[in-house]
Amino acid sequence: MKSKPKINIDENRCSQPDKCRKCLQVCQPCVLNLTFIDEDYHKPKNWKIIPAFPQLCLGPECGKCEEVCPKGAIGIEYKSY
Ligand code: SF4
Ligand code: SF4
Repeated sequence: MKSKPKINIDENRCSQPDKCRKCLQVCQPCVLNLTFIDEDYHKPKNWKIIPAFPQLCLGPECGKCEEVCPKGAIGIEYKSY
């Protein structure tokens, strides 16, 4: 049975993703990405981490992004199918 990950990122906790980036550094398959949602990229609130390629997530055996996040902002749900 496989697990399908649903990656939730709490934007209220992840307040300065452009400076932190810890989750990006530990994700070997590059599931996560840093992007900005407004042309004014000088404001931290205009940056966010997105699960760009959730289908590449290694699943429960990994969980490195959850472990490394200092704000507890990442939650991954694994649904079997
Ligand atoms: S659980 Fe592992 S593979 Fe999946 S997003 Fe987090 S670091 Fe990347
Ligand atoms: S590790 Fe956590 S706080 Fe840091 S950028 Fe990733 S989600 Fe945001």
